[in-house]
Amino acid sequence: MGRYIGPVCRRCRAVGEKLFLKGERCYTPKCAVDRRRVAPGDKSTRRFRRVSDYGLQLREKQKARFTYGLMESQFSKYIKAAFKSDSSTGEHLILQLETRLDNVICRLGFADSHSQARQLVNHGHFLLNGRKTNIPSYQVKAGDIVRWKESRVNSEYVQTLVKDLPKKPVPEWLQLDTKTLQGTVIRHPADEELESPFDTRLIVEFYSKR
Ligand code: SF4
Repeated sequence: MGRYIGPVCRRCRAVGEKLFLKGERCYTPKCAVDRRRVAPGDKSTRRFRRVSDYGLQLREKQKARFTYGLMESQFSKYIKAAFKSDSSTGEHLILQLETRLDNVICRLGFADSHSQARQLVNHGHFLLNGRKTNIPSYQVKAGDIVRWKESRVNSEYVQTLVKDLPKKPVPEWLQLDTKTLQGTVIRHPADEELESPFDTRLIVEFYSKR
């Protein structure tokens, strides 16, 4: 993934905000944004300068793309589908991103970051409705059940995860059974549950001009 987006912490520095892409490290003093609030390549010691409207739109789009760890081509497919939808473009965009399987893995607390979730799915560590899956972009639907493959349950990673699971909040549209490590999609998130940390209006404006 780094091949096309660049080193993880550079993405946060590029948009001037913490995007929490590295799990626990993001909450420590090692965070690159906390240590040095200067955009990559900017040799000046000044803080971020005022940016144009286009710059603001671009930055918001990049924030969303980096957060979900998507290539531009993947992200623009979601925005094209959102433009065609009958619902609000911004809400439909976030709905599609939130219902990706890799995002659901994150929301269930099975991974600290989208890149980690994607790697786990790619390596076939999960069963979807009882079948092996390796498609991180799969759009989950109500009734879908995600669980760890039996052979992974006793791994050190999963056993460490189990201890932390009670501390991790799970959205109401998902249900987690911490004993069986099984997650169920109860329904798609409602509009009011799609509260986005991004200004989707700016993202929609960015693509409207293209
Ligand atoms: Fe971003 Fe986390 Fe790196 Fe900080 S530690 S720059 S929040 S990815």
